[in-house]
Amino acid sequence: MPQREHSSAQATSYATESATQEGLDEIRRELGQDAVSTDVDDLEEHGFSEWSTSNTTARPRAVVRPSSTEEVSAIAKICTKYKIPMVPFGAGSSVEGNFSSPHSGICIDMSLMDKIVEFHPEDLDIVVQAGVNWTNLNEKIKVSGLFLPLDPGPTALIGGMIATNCSGTNAMRYGTMKDYVINLTVVLADGSVVKTRRRPRKTSAGYNLTALFTGSEGTLGIITEATLKLAIIPPKQSVAIATFPTVKDAAGAASDMIRGGVNLAALELMDDVQMKVVNSSGGAGGRKWEEQPTLFLKFSGTEQAIKDSIRAAKQVAKSSGCGSFTSATSEAEMESLWSARKQALWACLAVRPEGTEVWSTDVAVPISRMSDMIDECKGDAAKLGLFSSVLGHVGDGNFHQMIMYNPNKPEEKAAVKKVIDDMMHKALRMEGTVSGEHGIGIGKKECLLEELGPTTIGVMKSFKRSVDPHWLMNPGKVFDE
Ligand SMILES: Cc1cc2nc3c(=O)[nH]c(=O)nc-3n(C[C@H](O)[C@H](O)[C@H](O)COP(=O)(O)OP(=O)(O)OC[C@H]3O[C@@H](n4cnc5c(N)ncnc54)[C@H](O)[C@@H]3O)c2cc1C
Repeated sequence: MPQREHSSAQATSYATESATQEGLDEIRRELGQDAVSTDVDDLEEHGFSEWSTSNTTARPRAVVRPSSTEEVSAIAKICTKYKIPMVPFGAGSSVEGNFSSPHSGICIDMSLMDKIVEFHPEDLDIVVQAGVNWTNLNEKIKVSGLFLPLDPGPTALIGGMIATNCSGTNAMRYGTMKDYVINLTVVLADGSVVKTRRRPRKTSAGYNLTALFTGSEGTLGIITEATLKLAIIPPKQSVAIATFPTVKDAAGAASDMIRGGVNLAALELMDDVQMKVVNSSGGAGGRKWEEQPTLFLKFSGTEQAIKDSIRAAKQVAKSSGCGSFTSATSEAEMESLWSARKQALWACLAVRPEGTEVWSTDVAVPISRMSDMIDECKGDAAKLGLFSSVLGHVGDGNFHQMIMYNPNKPEEKAAVKKVIDDMMHKALRMEGTVSGEHGIGIGKKECLLEELGPTTIGVMKSFKRSVDPHWLMNPGKVFDE
């Protein structure tokens, strides 16, 4: 799908082909033949992403699958000896070219490290290996009444989720990944193993290294294990949807609900185009949807608390120009009403015209700026005359814009790029960020520089150099050397 090619400037010189080969032979001797794959399809899958807006032409030289922290440490030692770049890999669901391999090297696939190490329901925490998938985890522990409330792509693994500081629809109520990481076990580039903290829910002892590795996109080390906080599964949930004449009205109502203190578990927006797409891709939840900007609201708590919250939300919606407001009266209706939001991305891909690619990206702004921001971005994209849509976790001031374009038409591609660049500049002018949840990867390095400035990036680089002096960990991401 999206083929924005990216390169990356690099001062360090990496292993030659023969040195890489020697390194791989050494890894095979240490971990066994089966741990190293050079299968072409495997390399492609680990070096290119259909989901990602940015990709590179280079691919990893090999995919290595460790099954313990000790094996990860052995790999890192060998890679440091030969100066082979290392790119950690979870499920490959990230969308900013985060796991691409611009300098080739080896991809360290963590999926075999999928064990729950210790479960402490009485302490509301769990120790897991980095390769655990969050949906499997929640299924396994649901009898305890606890869950991990992050909901990124369904295939995502804990290591990748921490490395991107992911979130999702639940972030409004529960916060983002950083709020759930108690400690991390991380293998550094030279193979040394660090544990960032012990297991208390709070501490003020020493530097907060846990936070430093969270969101570092694999550029500082390889996360092998994590202790995570868990949340309590709410006793009841419900869902409502509200339609509005314009996206500005819908975003404005969202801000009013937040500022009015309406008790919401999630607050999502889909514009009229997204709603049309859901209908034309076969519908969702067995219903025909109004093709209007729509807010999706989730409520949780006791039955009475939910009733009160729905009433309060409806009141705000109506005073903000809401057309229809529908709340679920049964479990089945709740599923049905939420289904359009759940299927939004897949629905878009289903209707994508042949030969087009999707440019999809996210920003976040302070809540009070959100309706202006969304309105302006939607207006700019509409002028392109292409398919474009807005969908977002508006409860956090975070939204995604998706534009479909023909990559073989350079003028069209340049026009789309300008709209996306303008979106980034606008977000920064409104004191926002160029990435609410997808990270910087390979595609947004210039934007990050604009957001934080060279002095702040300089401090980040000096942290990186102190733990990765040869710049071997996921080089070419977040910022260049
Ligand atoms: C359909 C769909 C919906 C999505 N919805 C959301 C959403 O709502 N919210 C959201 O935040 N994201 C969303 N995403 C994006 C994606 O799911 C998240 O970014 C997720 O956290 C990535 O996890 P992963 O295991 O796939 O990581 P990968 O894509 O494999 O890797 C991501 C980054 O983390 C690094 N990494 C991976 N594992 C480790 C490790 N063990 N140690 C150190 N670094 C590591 C990689 O090098 C890379 O830089 C969505 C994606 C899809 C496809």
